[in-house]
Amino acid sequence: MSADALISTYFATGTLPDLPRDPFIGGASVPPAKGAYMESFDPGTASAFGSFAAGTAEDVDQAVTSAVAGFALWRDTPPAKRCAILMDCARLLRAEADRLAVVESLDSGKTLAEAYGDINSSARLFEYYAGAADKLDGRSVNLGNDNTAFTSREPVGVTAHIVPWNYPTSTLVRGIAPALAAGCSAVVKPAETTPYTALMIAELLIRAGVPAGVVNVVTGTGVEAGAPLVTDPRVRHVTFTGSVATGVGVMQAVAPNVTGLTLELGGKSPLIAFEDADPEAVAEGAYWAIFSNAGQICSAGSRLVIHRAIHAEVMERLLAKTRALRFGHGLRGSEMGAINSERHLATIAGHVDRARARGVEVLTGGAIAQDPDTGKGWFYQPTILDNLSPQDDAVLKEIFGPVLAVQIFDTEEEALALANGTEFALAAGIYTRDLSRALRMARRVDAGQVTVNNYWAGGIELPFGGNRKSGFGREKGLEGLDAYTRSKAITLSV
Ligand code: NAD
Repeated sequence: MSADALISTYFATGTLPDLPRDPFIGGASVPPAKGAYMESFDPGTASAFGSFAAGTAEDVDQAVTSAVAGFALWRDTPPAKRCAILMDCARLLRAEADRLAVVESLDSGKTLAEAYGDINSSARLFEYYAGAADKLDGRSVNLGNDNTAFTSREPVGVTAHIVPWNYPTSTLVRGIAPALAAGCSAVVKPAETTPYTALMIAELLIRAGVPAGVVNVVTGTGVEAGAPLVTDPRVRHVTFTGSVATGVGVMQAVAPNVTGLTLELGGKSPLIAFEDADPEAVAEGAYWAIFSNAGQICSAGSRLVIHRAIHAEVMERLLAKTRALRFGHGLRGSEMGAINSERHLATIAGHVDRARARGVEVLTGGAIAQDPDTGKGWFYQPTILDNLSPQDDAVLKEIFGPVLAVQIFDTEEEALALANGTEFALAAGIYTRDLSRALRMARRVDAGQVTVNNYWAGGIELPFGGNRKSGFGREKGLEGLDAYTRSKAITLSV
């Protein structure tokens, strides 16, 4: 079915045909052990449109058992064959892009265009790591004449992937694609509000030739399905993407088993604009940095750190763009979609309400909203908070919504102090025409990735990850393979 046909079907019936709902274990859909299901909501209408399994420890146990068997098969699959299969995964993902994108838009609340972008990045991730599958070489080491020695790069084993709801497909694939390239197997726990694309992709992988048991998916809550997965001693690496609070809990939970861990946590990333920057480029950059995916991006540019000399002009341009932004249901051609859940919407509103009560100036937005066409759904107005102090909660706390915090500076030193002034260190954008200053700042700002004069520049080829409370470990790029391989040193006496 084409995307248009799927969208018409959804608006006519309130659901989509053939949505998967059961855990995917050992290459097949298997009813959940306890027989319990949860509802999935369309954030654009606030109505339930499907159900899926509320998996429990029993399902996780079965999935990990299946992944242990899958690992034994997959690790011995020749790298060239793994490469060919992963290329086929990318091909099938592209072939199924319409259905995956419509489901993702509906499930997460993002716009259809954003959902297509996510599916496209996911296909690219499979292609990129397919190309790495047959290049995971070791090295030979000279120990003198009596010994010969070499290293081999081996897969770590069963890996667990705990996925959030904001980019359900690409966050999943940036974990499983390198894991599969390295020869690992996987058990995935999608977020409780966005279960479907993980189940659909697991089924696609079987069609591409990934053996049954290599990728398994258990849906459900963090407590019922996530916790038993990360604490299973047969799991050798956990890739967790989510909030700092849950990440800290996962770090403690995996400690007794000494399980490897990648933590991709929150952010409060600055877009730093100097007085020589082009005001239009800054306004346009800041607009997309905060309002893409309704601000529900870990690396969103949620702070605009701006030189006093261009503050007024940039704000005028940015306000005009923001007031013209069309938000609404993701499948109706809007520019900004919904907030993923009612609970998260209340969290965003609470942040802004408290800021207003403290006397913070709300330049635009600042309220819960509905789809302008239907009067339904979970939306938040695009919001700008101006001239904040470095100690303000709206500067220090991740809001994870379409809310921009503006901070004004006078000197480069001050800009750097403001940029590094939160407990997060995920991304930073620098806008200036002075290349020396750009490089100076890029070196001194604490962040996993820094862009100059284009906030979202980059791609799946570059490593991504945070410092400090934004987490540790890197995904994407060749660095993304490190978590899923370990080096073994082998010596032979001759
Ligand atoms: P969350 O921490 O509430 O949930 C993330 C995942 O953890 C979900 O699948 C959830 O079910 C699971 N979970 C919850 N409790 C668990 C437990 N005890 N054991 C195992 N798993 C458990 O986060 P969220 O609200 O879904 O996502 C938003 C957060 O994710 C934001 O802070 C955002 O910045 C962050 N994020 C970071 C990145 C990154 O790459 N750094 C990317 C996307 C989102």
